[in-house]
Amino acid sequence: MTVTRFAPSPTGYLHVGNLRTALFNYLIAKKTGGQFILRLDDTDPERSKPEYADAIKQDLEWLGIEWDRVETQSSRLERYAMAADKLREIGRFYEAFETPTELDLKRKKQLNMGKPPVYDRAALDLSNAEKDALRAERGSGVWRFKLDHARISWTDGILGEISIDAASVSDPVLIRGDGQVLYTIASVVDDTEMGITHVVRGSDHVTNTATQIQIIEALGGTVPNFAHHSLLTGPQGEALSKRLGTLALRDLRENGVEPLALLSHMARIGSSDPIELRANMAELIEGFDLSRFGSAPTKFDVDDLYPLTAKHLHGLDVSAVAPDLDALAIPQEQREAFWNVARDNITTRRDIETWWLLCRDGAEPVIDDADKDFVADALGLLPDTPFDADSWSNWTAAVKEKTGRKGRGLFMPLRKALTGMSHGPDMSQLMPLLRVIRAKT
Ligand code: GLU
Repeated sequence: MTVTRFAPSPTGYLHVGNLRTALFNYLIAKKTGGQFILRLDDTDPERSKPEYADAIKQDLEWLGIEWDRVETQSSRLERYAMAADKLREIGRFYEAFETPTELDLKRKKQLNMGKPPVYDRAALDLSNAEKDALRAERGSGVWRFKLDHARISWTDGILGEISIDAASVSDPVLIRGDGQVLYTIASVVDDTEMGITHVVRGSDHVTNTATQIQIIEALGGTVPNFAHHSLLTGPQGEALSKRLGTLALRDLRENGVEPLALLSHMARIGSSDPIELRANMAELIEGFDLSRFGSAPTKFDVDDLYPLTAKHLHGLDVSAVAPDLDALAIPQEQREAFWNVARDNITTRRDIETWWLLCRDGAEPVIDDADKDFVADALGLLPDTPFDADSWSNWTAAVKEKTGRKGRGLFMPLRKALTGMSHGPDMSQLMPLLRVIRAKT
């Protein structure tokens, strides 16, 4: 059975970049009837906050990405300690005492000499007495995993054949001097013990994957299938990392983006399949194929979400917007007719209100100077409310006869006088809904 996980750190709100990871993992699990685990990577006690964990769940719920269970790393610390002991026992774990400044200096020297800035393993040469002395002076050291300097290879679900020379990578620090367990080991232990079969994550994790494969092997676990999706860029190809804060899922929700529009877009950008609006999660699952994604950075433009949102709304039945119509206290008997007229003229649900207020309260008329007399004449011919389906054609016919105007010169000033806008629904459908004509008063 396919088992995947989405493993955010609850240190902030989810953004579109995270969503891509969550969605891919969810879709590949569900495509084969597998399980999707929400794993909270909360080993950093200072930065992890319960309110972010709650927000992550809310965002996924809003999107309909359902997890089979939640795991939290903070409740599994003893498992990580056991793995650390095992690495110590088999001689793959060593304590190192360099300060950040010392490491920085080493890196600079290496770079100056044209060498890759890889940790030089100086700590491996320390005698026990030297370690004791350093520990007394500086406190506990960090614990590094001793990589086996061989090539690490895997067949990536998106990138294809990958091979990384372990000698070009620093021995990763798995435990900090203060004892805090770091992501790399916690993730490996969880992936192994939770039977994760597929890990999809951003291509910024490729080097992590190489080292994690060796750690998994050292611990005797089964290496999952890895796939690394490209990172999102802005519409011009610019790095999105700085703007991700403004692309939080909760902001998109607030701005009226529809879940299925967002999901449909994210399930396809960066793939060779066209972006298609899907009606539900089942269709998204059905139409998803990881092998269609490429390695090139993927352009993301938040503006693309709005036409899809509009398209989704245009296809909704009145019952699907009942909560929105409730919120505006739209009388039951007017709902169907109102929605049929309004829906093709909205981009997000927030626009429903504009059309409702127009119907209920009328609009501030817009009358161009050149049309003042014409509109005054026309309003004199306007029948009383309530209007019906023929009111617009009867009225405009009468106005045409009296004034001789036709076409746009006839219709546009009347539309603007009644609705205050130069665009909108078919006037013969809209008129029966208009309760108040402010231009008349
Ligand atoms: N907590 C990690 C992150 O957000 C998880 C990475 C992974 O999927 O392994 O980057």
